[in-house]
Amino acid sequence: MSNLGKLKSWNPSIPQDIFSLNISSKLSTNSDDIKESSKDFGKIVQKILSAAVLYPSCVNDIIDLIQFSYGLSVPFQVAAKGHGHSIRGQAMAQNGVIVEMKSLNNNNNCGIRVSWDSDLGFYADVGGEQLWVDVLHSTLEYGLAPVSWTDYLYLTVGGTLSNAGISGQIFRYGPQISNVHEMDVITGKGELVTCSKDKNSELFFGVLGGLGQFGIIIRAKIVLDKASTRVKWVRMLYDDFSKFTKDQEYLISIHHNGLDYVEGSLMMEQSSLNNWRSSFFSPSNQTKIASLLSQNKIMYCLEIVKYYDDHTANTIDEELKKLVQGLNYLGGFMFKKDVTFVEFLNRVRKGQMELELKGMWDVPHPWLNLFVPKSNIMKFNAAVFEDIILRQNNPTGPILVYPTSRKRWDDRMSAIIPEEETFYIVGFLHSSSGNNECKILDDQNKEILNYCDKVGLNIKQYLPHYNTKEDWIKHFGKKWHIFQQRKTQFDPKKILSPGQNIFN
Ligand code: FAD
Repeated sequence: MSNLGKLKSWNPSIPQDIFSLNISSKLSTNSDDIKESSKDFGKIVQKILSAAVLYPSCVNDIIDLIQFSYGLSVPFQVAAKGHGHSIRGQAMAQNGVIVEMKSLNNNNNCGIRVSWDSDLGFYADVGGEQLWVDVLHSTLEYGLAPVSWTDYLYLTVGGTLSNAGISGQIFRYGPQISNVHEMDVITGKGELVTCSKDKNSELFFGVLGGLGQFGIIIRAKIVLDKASTRVKWVRMLYDDFSKFTKDQEYLISIHHNGLDYVEGSLMMEQSSLNNWRSSFFSPSNQTKIASLLSQNKIMYCLEIVKYYDDHTANTIDEELKKLVQGLNYLGGFMFKKDVTFVEFLNRVRKGQMELELKGMWDVPHPWLNLFVPKSNIMKFNAAVFEDIILRQNNPTGPILVYPTSRKRWDDRMSAIIPEEETFYIVGFLHSSSGNNECKILDDQNKEILNYCDKVGLNIKQYLPHYNTKEDWIKHFGKKWHIFQQRKTQFDPKKILSPGQNIFN
């Protein structure tokens, strides 16, 4: 579209002088582009439209945009959009500009480069717009891989580092934000700053888990380790929550020669066999599990993985046998798989494609993710899993439950976790068939949050969403003060990531 065409459809919240900048040919005001960019995976927030979309071809385009806004007496807001896998409009910018980070990738800007340094060892230098699945494939060419993952790999590096990036490896390696050496970040003043633990550390720690509030991550140096080639992947079923969590806690406490991944989930009625985690079970196993589920309202599935390669192929079975010795799962309900490292890490993709075929992927997702202190997990189980969830509705997506520890989280990072040494990650990853069901599930989420609040379970939301400043202040607790200070320092005009709804 010509500049003249753009001016006709111009939103008055942004001065038209923007077209005198070099980026004008990369700015779109086309309503289809705006609608497309103003969407996310959650499909819950749908009417927050930006004024324009920037498709940057280089880092300077983003700098120009932010500097222009910063120079205005009434600045407009800017949201980096990674892969748009937020749930509640976190990557949206009402009447502002959305920066489609993926368009940086078209020009091979930072891309993904594997390097070595005598201090850091092997690391990947990765553009913030890169998807983790591409980081995996590129680093594997060198026999290397990142150590900490998310369950699903079609998320951007910038998007997960703005939250935490968690999965079953977290007890061992910490979240993805604990595995970054250095970043290049464009602040809310439009300055490109390199930061690390030792250099501009306030920005470095602020950005990690900082919900996009202090800068746009342009590049990150990610820790790499030697990659395994295959994994032993095991699921065990329990009918007792106490035994299930005790075994999980034992498994994450093994330091020497322990597991590489520990997760867990709830199984309830047949619906548990129809979500993206279910592709693990063969049809005959599914029949066996379905009969068990007809007798028990809730079952618990412990999921563990141990990586191996040619050198350890002879000993892996013995090692795994030792690790599961003495666990209290139901006899006859251990299921095993032996798959490649990539098949395991990219496991959700298969489930995604199956759900897409059934029309069950591109639907509203009223998710709720919580961190629950270990001392309260039994209470949480009784009131939430065994009451609220069972009473109101059948689960419509995976419900994850697994423990981890604070050890690998640096308290200087912006990410918020409970105070207790061990805490549980609980994810209600609901899919709904439409707006009515979405509302029912969202009401259920509210009931869970209200209960936790009333009883004082000291939970923290992951991928947090709040409507009031008071709630944000409560969420950050003693870190609110520093979070606010960092905002004043790095984004004083409150330009960045307005969709998080913290300062706007
Ligand atoms: P977006 O939704 O595009 O953006 C999220 C936020 O980050 C926005 O505020 C945006 O402005 C900001 N942002 C985006 N890019 C940048 C950047 N380069 N610099 C600074 N800020 C930026 N999370 C886990 O931890 N573990 C999981 O296993 C996991 N699994 C998931 C599975 C699915 C199917 C989905 C939909 C989400 C999952 N998530 C998981 C949540 C996910 O990590 C977050 O929603 C993440 O923000 C998504 O990344 P994105 O690239 O889509 O970010």
